[in-house]
Amino acid sequence: MGVDPGDGKTNFDDDDYLGGYRIFAERNRPEGTKDQAGDPIDQPHTNIKVQVSITPIMPEGYSTTVHLKVFDPDYYVDGGPAHTPQDGDPNDQTAGTYNPGDNFGGLGMTPATAQLTFEEDEWQHSAMFLIDGPYAGNNFLVGANPRLSVLNNYAFMPDGKNLYFMEQGQQVIVDPPFRTDNWLTVWRTLWMELDDMVAPDPVADGPFDGAGVGNDDVILDPGVAPIDLTKNSMHWALIEVEALPGEYNVKDATPNDGTGTVEFVHNLTAQISSTKSGPVRDVASEPAFWVIHTIGAYEERTETVGDNKGGDWDPNWEANSWLGWAYQYGADGSNFIFYETIRDRQLNDPLPNPPTPVDVDTLTERVVFHEALHRFLGPHGGDPDTGVADGVMVYDTAMYGTPEANELTPRQIRIINQKEYPK
Ligand SMILES: [Zn+2]
Repeated sequence: MGVDPGDGKTNFDDDDYLGGYRIFAERNRPEGTKDQAGDPIDQPHTNIKVQVSITPIMPEGYSTTVHLKVFDPDYYVDGGPAHTPQDGDPNDQTAGTYNPGDNFGGLGMTPATAQLTFEEDEWQHSAMFLIDGPYAGNNFLVGANPRLSVLNNYAFMPDGKNLYFMEQGQQVIVDPPFRTDNWLTVWRTLWMELDDMVAPDPVADGPFDGAGVGNDDVILDPGVAPIDLTKNSMHWALIEVEALPGEYNVKDATPNDGTGTVEFVHNLTAQISSTKSGPVRDVASEPAFWVIHTIGAYEERTETVGDNKGGDWDPNWEANSWLGWAYQYGADGSNFIFYETIRDRQLNDPLPNPPTPVDVDTLTERVVFHEALHRFLGPHGGDPDTGVADGVMVYDTAMYGTPEANELTPRQIRIINQKEYPK
């Protein structure tokens, strides 16, 4: 595994994770990024070099060929309780049973076979492979054997994890690192581009008089969305969540005010959301570099209009009020998190019978996670098989419920693992 001459990284992680290695098969920087010398440093890290060593060294006057073949293991092999590595089962819909192929629509690495010739005095050669299916959770095993007929008889045990072949009527397990490498599993990074509205002007943006029921519409400076829950949860889908570094998140529609980057809007609407998010959006989401733009905002509009219901919970107990919204599903729009509405509902909501108290910070984390999942799972009201009716996507019962009710479900993990990118 050599260092990429472009950005000096390998994206290869040999920490043993579930019995294999990790590869972050993606760009490390937004497309088009160059270094100070003007050279591109945005290469996708999708080339794999597999090195084969033979022992002893090839004797004088002899040569041999080692054949290589890419195999496709099942990822999790035993469907298990939530919060175990066995939970999720993204490759294989039937726990504990190997299915040829997996959820990712193909092997995901090319070429499927290769061969290396060792001449006299040679003992080490390598073959190059390309990960052309860089889905989180996709995994590979490269088998090697000098006898092609034996290699072609490598097959998975029912656990979908270990290879074996038959020799003189006996089952021979193919043990790594002999005649196979260790598992290689694709991981991905999800960059959260975080922006937030500036604080309102008490006079020009008001009224903030608490009129209506309770203490509606208080002065409140929307924050930068917290991503810890999203980070911890998406790990189960083999995705690392990070805030987009400041060097790539530079646009500020309200420079020098010190309280945020997005223009303040008291009552946001879907129609104007893009005119507010556009000026601060820095990096688009694309297959090789995943981005979700998330904005800390004040509240949605007060009225409800037709099917496109808005709402800000003012006065208290208004139906259909949004704690957050993922605008422009499927078109890489922006997520807004409504801090004033979250505050109102957490303080004043007698519904929906929360089984456990949920504080403002916890509720905000859940809203950020919920809206991020919309970029993978699509809108509410669709086919339940899309995972949009599970876990934290259940607006009332889960989001105000226990931590366990807000975890990624195995179905959601499988669906997320099949997505090319969030948008
Ligand atoms: Zn939603």
